[in-house]
Amino acid sequence: MRIAVIGTGYVGLVTGVSLSEIGHHITCIDVNEDKVAKMQNGISPIYEPGLSELMTKNINEKRLSFTTDHQEGLQQAEIVYIAVGTPENIDGSADLSFVAQAAKDIAGNVEHNIIVVTKSTVPVGTNDMIKDIIQTHLPNGLMVEVVSNPEFLKEGSAIHDSFHGDRIVIGADSEHAFSIIEQVNQPFGVPIFKTDIKSAEMIKYASNAFLATKISFINEISNICELLGANIENVSTGMGLDQRIGSQFLKAGIGYGGSCFPKDTKALIQIAGNVEYEFELLKGVVNVNKKQQGILISKLNDCLPVISGKKIAVLGLSFKPNTDDMRESASILVTEELIKQGAKVVAYDPIAMENAKSILNPLVQYADSIEDAVENSDAALILTDWSEIKNVELAVFNKMKKPLVIDGRNCFALKAMENNGIDYHSIGRPVSA
Ligand code: NAD
Repeated sequence: MRIAVIGTGYVGLVTGVSLSEIGHHITCIDVNEDKVAKMQNGISPIYEPGLSELMTKNINEKRLSFTTDHQEGLQQAEIVYIAVGTPENIDGSADLSFVAQAAKDIAGNVEHNIIVVTKSTVPVGTNDMIKDIIQTHLPNGLMVEVVSNPEFLKEGSAIHDSFHGDRIVIGADSEHAFSIIEQVNQPFGVPIFKTDIKSAEMIKYASNAFLATKISFINEISNICELLGANIENVSTGMGLDQRIGSQFLKAGIGYGGSCFPKDTKALIQIAGNVEYEFELLKGVVNVNKKQQGILISKLNDCLPVISGKKIAVLGLSFKPNTDDMRESASILVTEELIKQGAKVVAYDPIAMENAKSILNPLVQYADSIEDAVENSDAALILTDWSEIKNVELAVFNKMKKPLVIDGRNCFALKAMENNGIDYHSIGRPVSA
């Protein structure tokens, strides 16, 4: 089928590339000229394992192209995907201005009946709004159908997830739309769940809120473990063996970040608030996460009461491994606080340093390797569990003034740190020294 995808961020580009891989003809449209120029030259503007290879393959096979011109992209399309951002407004609600603009772009540029598929995460009722905008601006006699098809990919394994996801949710209100979008997705071989549009919109928020709840829950348990002398790793393992609980998302750390959980939890609190429902549990989840992101600083302050003038190595900057995405990463808060307390911050990340440079405080310095970052430092903080960090030779920490590692991701075994004489503080586990 001929499909246009509006927005080529983490979701839009992965969607476009994956749909082209299963045989559809895709035109990706983005207003960002630099991004489009890169993609036209076969260069992915984001880091995502396997993406560049599939992108190049499908460009060469003439199923994938890129443009900044909505008319060019939409003219031939039978289906249009909306994959633009829905960032957070100041009050925590979802900013729908990009979605509304995309709807206007569609209405102004199609000359035939069209099915519009919303991939962006949008509050319940937004697909009705999209339909209204398009229908009122569409030339007389033309019809639009809207489908909610929320995205569940995980950054860092987005391509894999497209082909091996747990489910594809399709929310529609006509058999015609259901059957077309089902056909489009069939080759992925992923189970399809069909439902009404509002429920599909809610499934996305409820899923993210539930996962965020699991994270905040295990983080609270880890804080209690520290006070009682229990070990969170053992507790998580024991809990996860219960199939009703499941072992995923039970890893204690310094909280969730990224472009989805922080904004989607706050948006769902607003969505509930709009119908005068106070989502107390989710408010707790958000507050716990905010506290947890700062926990490494408290641990550092306990170990080194004065950090002014000290060299602090920060290892890992992206909000999780295998991505260059810095949005809402704990590294933003942590480095800011370190600088505020007068530390000399030297950071290292295998992939995200270029993005970090435009986001973090300009006083942050960057090292070429873990070794350079930790050399002569007074403390090393671990923020992201990249495999390069997890698998580093522990001897590297002997290059510090005195080995002091404060690990927000429980990357190392306590015994190994002890054997190497490292003063090691992690999350929800006893201190080893
Ligand atoms: P993003 O900010 O990385 O990308 C959005 C892109 O849309 C940008 O390149 C922007 O230039 C482009 N754009 C904005 N308005 C446009 C217009 N009118 N025409 C053409 N292009 C336009 O966003 P993202 O991370 O890909 O997220 C997109 C949506 O998917 C959000 O609603 C998000 O919540 C949701 N989502 C994201 C993830 C994720 O892991 N990033 C996962 C699931 C769902």
